Amino acid sequence: MDPREIRTTSGEEDRAAQIRRAQAMRAEGRSLFEIATTLGRSKEWLREYAGLRRAKETPMTTRPRDTRTALDAYMGHHTATLALLARITEAIANHDDAPVEDPDTDITWGHVGDIAETRKALQEISDRLFSEGEYAEVACLRCPATFGSSADLAAHYRTAH
Ligand SMILES: [Zn+2]
Repeated sequence: MDPREIRTTSGEEDRAAQIRRAQAMRAEGRSLFEIATTLGRSKEWLREYAGLRRAKETPMTTRPRDTRTALDAYMGHHTATLALLARITEAIANHDDAPVEDPDTDITWGHVGDIAETRKALQEISDRLFSEGEYAEVACLRCPATFGSSADLAAHYRTAH
């Protein structure tokens, strides 16, 4: 439904439609402010009638997250990342990513496309980790500053030198 239609109508049925729309937008990850603006309702209205909560919007301020330190969070991701890496390495080393009866003769172009896609995703990760490819840093020639893109470097030249 066009949001402009909602704003110009009234009544219980429209309110129910607005509530459904607000909840659907929330499920899509829209902010309370964005939903309030779109529907022409206050954030208080959204909380009271559509049951929308602020908690999802700012998870960093909720209590369970506050008790977890950055080191705890990092180590959790670290362990999971190593496990992922080991599993991926084994699958690729054993051609599990191209399951065929005879890997020497039954490789199809479909498998080539699959492994090319895998390589591309891993290359992206590698580039980010080692600051290569699109993540390559460019250095200012007049000061020690480095930047993630030549556009950022150009902006730096315009403002700093
Ligand atoms: Zn500079």
